[in-house]
Amino acid sequence: MRIAACLPFLCCLMLADLVSAGAQEMQPKQIDIQYVEPKNEKLQPVYEQIRKAHALEMMQSLLQPLRLPRRLLIKTEDCDGISNAWYEDDVITVCYEYLDDLWKNVPSAPTGGIAPIDALIGPTIDVFLHEVAHAVFDYWNTPIFGREEDAADQFSVYFMLQFDKGEARRLILGNAWQYQGDIRSPVVVQSLRKFSDVHGTPSQRYFNVLCIAYGADPVLFGDFVESGKLPKDRAEGCEFEYQQVANAWTQLIEPHIDQDLKRESFVVWLPPVEKQPVRRTDKPDLRRLLRRN
Ligand SMILES: [Zn+2]
Repeated sequence: MRIAACLPFLCCLMLADLVSAGAQEMQPKQIDIQYVEPKNEKLQPVYEQIRKAHALEMMQSLLQPLRLPRRLLIKTEDCDGISNAWYEDDVITVCYEYLDDLWKNVPSAPTGGIAPIDALIGPTIDVFLHEVAHAVFDYWNTPIFGREEDAADQFSVYFMLQFDKGEARRLILGNAWQYQGDIRSPVVVQSLRKFSDVHGTPSQRYFNVLCIAYGADPVLFGDFVESGKLPKDRAEGCEFEYQQVANAWTQLIEPHIDQDLKRESFVVWLPPVEKQPVRRTDKPDLRRLLRRN
């Protein structure tokens, strides 16, 4: 459209039309999902379980309030042995290998106050939300100070905290469980090279989850400090760390959320805490588990 030769008043009208047309293109219900059948038969069980649990349908319904300028596909796929997840060109890929590793990492009985079902669901939802964060930062051209990987983790934790208290606590405990392999010992040995990664170290990501949750609700998550899981030195500033995330969310994310759909989406939807996930006997490769994008 040529706008250089128009009258100033007409230009304003045409520009207003362009702006509103752009705004109208931001639509909710833009999430597509796909379970790609795995080529490797060893991944058939995780493929079947994830379908049976309607994991992608649940993520789709949770994410429908996001107003996006174009469609976003979320798929689960066989990644030829790579245990990872990523976002690229309007597509989120979560590998069956990665979901299988999460599944293998589930304890057989409640451990440290975490139910087996939550040790499965928390990290699973986190991996999807973390990748959704990368996607929406791209779609909305979201300005970010600091590492995008930290912002993506914060997006996921903040999202989990939007549920009612009982569900938020289960999701946060489950999320933190994925770092269990790395925090078992009080001393962590890492290669120097590991610190050059765009992600924080697993132990840092673990403390960040606890801190944001504690900062959001020091009563609901007070046991993190009482039990010594979250050191007092860090805990003192968590209220401000949470406020920083909440402020960024309010300014950068909330304007892109359809409020009517949001009210419908945030319902109680976790399975009962006593539900026992199907057991896997093989042990996970924890190094693989902590390597995702
Ligand atoms: Zn990432």
